[in-house]
Amino acid sequence: MESALKARRLLLLMTTASYRAGAFLDAARRIGVDVTVGAEREQALAMANPAGHLTLDFLAPEKAVRTIAEFNKEYPINAVIATDDDGVIIAAMAGNALGLPCNPLPAVAAARNKYLMREILAKAGIPSPRYAKFSIAENPKDIARHISFPCVVKPLSLSASRGVIRADDASQFVAAFMRVAAILRQSGVAGTGGDFSQHILVESFIPGKEIAVEGLLSKGKLKVLTIFDKPDPLDGPFFEETIYVTPSCHPESVQKKIIDCTTKAVKAIGLREGPVHAELRINEQGAWILEIAPRSIGGLCSRTLRFGEGISLEELILRHALGLDVENFEREFLAAGVMMIPIPHAGTLREVRGVQEAKEVAAIEDIRITIPIGQTLVPLPEGKKYLGFIFARDETPAGVEASLREAHRRLDFVIDSGGN
Ligand code: ADP
Repeated sequence: MESALKARRLLLLMTTASYRAGAFLDAARRIGVDVTVGAEREQALAMANPAGHLTLDFLAPEKAVRTIAEFNKEYPINAVIATDDDGVIIAAMAGNALGLPCNPLPAVAAARNKYLMREILAKAGIPSPRYAKFSIAENPKDIARHISFPCVVKPLSLSASRGVIRADDASQFVAAFMRVAAILRQSGVAGTGGDFSQHILVESFIPGKEIAVEGLLSKGKLKVLTIFDKPDPLDGPFFEETIYVTPSCHPESVQKKIIDCTTKAVKAIGLREGPVHAELRINEQGAWILEIAPRSIGGLCSRTLRFGEGISLEELILRHALGLDVENFEREFLAAGVMMIPIPHAGTLREVRGVQEAKEVAAIEDIRITIPIGQTLVPLPEGKKYLGFIFARDETPAGVEASLREAHRRLDFVIDSGGN
């Protein structure tokens, strides 16, 4: 079976900022498929291996797809995978242009635009926050008179909770709106389409426990790979992700609601192929969908997942994209989790102490500090990088959570705030 893959080529779309490059390239190597990396900058070894690299303009999808179609004439492509949000539109356009199984473009476009997504979910009657879109040119004081609190103010297209702010009253709203408008001005989204840079979404705040669903779609059918609990309360004003633990401790009946809600949302949006990552909240009224994205879990979090005989999430995604059967792969029996290390405050990272002591905590598998020493730390809502990740695996979700917290407690981040 695997030798048949030798003659197959996979196009991996990833910007150089991706956390996922290593995991996807390892997976491709493991299954022995030829890989072309489509990135926004020419790669160092591009000359040595012209079939291995393709420089693409991620902000000009039509142009990128023309480049891919041209490349495909010489090096036929069997699957296109976007490792992160940035590449999902190009992946859908290229997949459709090359006649490969992929998501319809309107579905991906809707999932990339939080306002469009809300419109579709509301029309389909799927529980999701009330919402309204405003131009950044409007006066937030006027808007504040017409909305109810608490609310959440957010950009239409950014990710990793960047620019997502809760407001409990009019004055908090005005400050949040202006802050999100400033983030939009300096984030570079202007190049990704006018609507994204000119509008802000305001939603009702949905209280409750948050969970994430990781799934894989084949011909529109959702296979839920796992549900992650997020044990830390995410009540704002900013929504920094911290701990993800799987399997979920929610009772079966609640998990069923989560899966039902995700399945309906996927269908309403029209996603059909490949990975999906959904964020939901659970409260006494049931499951509410906050977001659904046509990609797998971000950062280095996928390292928590192992399937079958120890294959990675990335390998599962590649196998599916290449037409191999993935139906029988189940997540391992052990509980697993990750902590996305919170950025304590802004400044220059000078030193990280206690890494060895933290690694010695029972059940801790690894700790990765992903911001180099000497670099500036920018907390949410403006920041977009993770300080690092702590990984744990244990018999129970509670054991995983306790280990992650203890390891984090042992870490000491020396940050120079530059205040003299
Ligand atoms: P991103 O795509 O940047 O992650 P989301 O819209 O998913 O942005 O919001 C990020 C986080 O903010 C969510 O995971 C959730 O914790 C919180 N959040 C966003 N919208 C709401 C809402 N309407 N009610 C409650 N919490 C929300």
